[in-house]
Amino acid sequence: MSYAAVSSRTFAHGFGSDLFLIQGRFVDGTYTPGPHYSDESMVDTGGSKVKSPRYLGTEIFWESMMFETTEFYSVELGGSVSTSMYDLMSTGLGAPLSIWQNNPVTQIQEQLGGKWTIESEKFTETNYDHVIITIPSWNFGTETSLVTVNRETAASKWPTSLQTFLKRAHWEPACKVFVSLKEPFWENAALSMPQMFATDTYIRDAYGIKLDVDTNQKGAMLVSYSWWRDANKLVSYSDSDLINLCVRQLDEICQRCINVNGLFSDYVDYSQSYVVHWEMERFTKGAARLYDQREWNDTQVPMMYNQVYSTTSKLYLAGESYHVDAGWTEPCMRMAIDSVLRILDNDQDSSITVPNFVFSQDYTQYNESFVPV
Ligand SMILES: Cc1cc2nc3c(=O)[nH]c(=O)nc-3n(C[C@H](O)[C@H](O)[C@H](O)COP(=O)(O)OP(=O)(O)OC[C@H]3O[C@@H](n4cnc5c(N)ncnc54)[C@H](O)[C@@H]3O)c2cc1C
Repeated sequence: MSYAAVSSRTFAHGFGSDLFLIQGRFVDGTYTPGPHYSDESMVDTGGSKVKSPRYLGTEIFWESMMFETTEFYSVELGGSVSTSMYDLMSTGLGAPLSIWQNNPVTQIQEQLGGKWTIESEKFTETNYDHVIITIPSWNFGTETSLVTVNRETAASKWPTSLQTFLKRAHWEPACKVFVSLKEPFWENAALSMPQMFATDTYIRDAYGIKLDVDTNQKGAMLVSYSWWRDANKLVSYSDSDLINLCVRQLDEICQRCINVNGLFSDYVDYSQSYVVHWEMERFTKGAARLYDQREWNDTQVPMMYNQVYSTTSKLYLAGESYHVDAGWTEPCMRMAIDSVLRILDNDQDSSITVPNFVFSQDYTQYNESFVPV
């Protein structure tokens, strides 16, 4: 049996169809790392080390955006330049681009005159014309605050209805437990150990994965993938206890199947493992943002925020927290594109020029008075 791990489901593939493992940067089956591979000398604007890209797995999405060459155009650059975002930042090239890692924003503050000041752990910078906010909603209040000049500007830039949404929206837990394997047992026809387990036990689902392109890979197993109440059940265990608990459960399932020979634990390489509880991560606090049954109209506020408020506020919302389709990357991408288009439209120094397309008339608009029947 062969099972492809689900990566970027619904973003690049279907919901349950056309799923395949995103392996990395390969050309005709040959691993072909891109720019800055193994470059240990990279630092961000604050001098913190930047991890060199490996061009493996879904990490290639952010690695490509950061390190692959693309066309940049700006007045400061004197026109168009082919470079990567990282190189643009590190070489300067006349463009004021900063990249800060591990630097939580602590306050977004409105200045008199409407520009914004950003305070973070490592810097405070004034006079931002536009700010795109992507932080998970439970970080408002706990990690970050937004301060307006007075109540009047709050009403037109950071309305009470949005603040209410941010307080009422909540986050769902999820947990994944991975172990490395001594061999990809599902490729051995003599073995009857399944590659995939779908259970009603505390581990919920488990499946094995391995890159197709490197035959020396031994593979890894997601020994537990759980959401919501099932993830809560696992939160109090140490990583090593949880790994043992999951392996024990898979062994018990194997023992109960008369057509499975051997134990799952025979194939586990305990030297490498990885456990993540999204609700324990300080800067996400959960895996997916939810809203309660009778609070659906709360979610209309952030969904329409860019359309209704950004012209005045020059703030833009994008990402998991601010859309009704939370839990998927597609609306995050959609809102990111929406934010950039609106910045181009709102800024006095830029405009959107597309033949036969007038942004204010032809770009999709929410019906602000929509009420579901
Ligand atoms: C277990 C799991 C499985 C999923 N499966 C799928 C799937 O199959 N298909 C799919 O399409 N989607 C899936 N998703 C959803 C998808 O991963 C998210 O919707 C998406 O990653 C959210 O992107 P984002 O940019 O909004 O938020 P994030 O990627 O969470 O980025 C928010 C960033 O803000 C940072 N941050 C927080 N506070 C601050 C601060 N004060 N200052 C500065 N930075 C801060 C955080 O550190 C984080 O890096 C899954 C999610 C989980 C957890």
